[in-house]
Amino acid sequence: MLRLPKDFITEIKDILQEDSDEFLRQYEKEPFKGISVNRLKADPERLLPLLSFKTEKSPYYPDGYYISEAQGIGKDPLHHAGAFYVQEPSASSAVTLLEISPGERVLDLCAAPGGKSAQIASCLRGQGLLWSNEVVKNRAQILLSNLERMGVSNGVISSCYPEILCEKLRGFFDKVLVDAPCSGEGMFRKNPEAAAQWSREHVISCAERQLAILESASSAVKDGGTLVYSTCTFSREENEGVIASFLNRHKEFEPFGFEEGFGRKSGVSCGIRITPLEGGEGPFAARLKKRGEAYSSGCPASDGETDNKILNSVRKELSGIFKALPSGKLTLINDKVYIVPEEMPQIGGVGIIRAGVLAGELKKNRFEPAHGIFMASGPENIRRVLELDPGDKRVSEFLSGYEIDCELENGYAAVSVAGIVTGFGKCSGGRLKNKYPKGLRIQ
Ligand code: SAM
Repeated sequence: MLRLPKDFITEIKDILQEDSDEFLRQYEKEPFKGISVNRLKADPERLLPLLSFKTEKSPYYPDGYYISEAQGIGKDPLHHAGAFYVQEPSASSAVTLLEISPGERVLDLCAAPGGKSAQIASCLRGQGLLWSNEVVKNRAQILLSNLERMGVSNGVISSCYPEILCEKLRGFFDKVLVDAPCSGEGMFRKNPEAAAQWSREHVISCAERQLAILESASSAVKDGGTLVYSTCTFSREENEGVIASFLNRHKEFEPFGFEEGFGRKSGVSCGIRITPLEGGEGPFAARLKKRGEAYSSGCPASDGETDNKILNSVRKELSGIFKALPSGKLTLINDKVYIVPEEMPQIGGVGIIRAGVLAGELKKNRFEPAHGIFMASGPENIRRVLELDPGDKRVSEFLSGYEIDCELENGYAAVSVAGIVTGFGKCSGGRLKNKYPKGLRIQ
């Protein structure tokens, strides 16, 4: 039985009042588990019948589902293909509050490992811009790998301090999400060690850091834009307290309420909690609006196409592999070729790790395509596709890094499972040389 800190229980009793006993009994049960479907790869109507596990719709995100067992799900070929992201259903509520429409510019300021960025990318449907920032460098690499798996083509990934990034991108974003680092009280069921490490001092230091991040974020929101703040903790200091202090200091923001019945009311009109009693592990989310008229910021000035010899020959190579490319501008940086989103602003000094899609690399004057461009392309846009059934033994062989039989003509070919691209290889004489990245292979 999980041992909960005494001070935590006292605070929960204060927050949940007559519901607290029932709440505390939930610690005898398993945590909720779920997935969010990635519409860049497949609609739920197409994906759900292909899954080997049962799903039940979540009230917190239109493409979110509860699942009963997540064991081994990371090895599922459709997970490798980026068709879904494993995400506890109530964790998806913050992105739902952002009400994203395709074409908007969205900043996810504390983004790793990338669950909410994956959701935002799915809502953007490849249009507009998703900027995912993660200050911790090695976590930013995990974020990159996850967003590449999801096939995100209109994304920028950076590793920068929020105050520097947001200062350079003043008023650039329609929507900003601050999914802040927190004391993690909502993780106790999933990770009992978090309960053992909990302390009041940590809660207080988290609240100070959260307010500082939120203050940085405020400058990146354009007039009339939306700012959502979320945590996975119950603490009032880290939730209501941070929002109240922020609104006190930032008169240019106002609470931006939403419909009742989405989670449990909190101590601020624009915020909710989702406890196990409402089918969630404990996220808090609050929505604010920046005063002023919404306006379209327009595209940043482009410095013109560097239509040089190398890019022309890369373009020719790519057209032999792809019928259509993800949208954006073909750009050469050192020996790597990227397809950079049109909406990408011209700024530096913000730790950009990836802008758009990695199309490939020049190796000894030869162009070699990259995993990223295949993951960001539907099978209909690729000339050679090895289409496999999920049950075909070549699927697990391919995901484990082996060469497989391939009846296609020679050349680079995508490997697709149930119509969803999961990687690529080079076909030669009836065999496919495996190009699935070593770090992603099933062990
Ligand atoms: N949004 C992510 C998702 O859905 O997968 C989860 C984000 S997690 C709750 C908070 C993130 O904030 C962590 O990745 C952490 O490394 C990062 N972080 C830690 N300190 C930070 C700081 N001072 N400023 C900004 N981000 C910070």
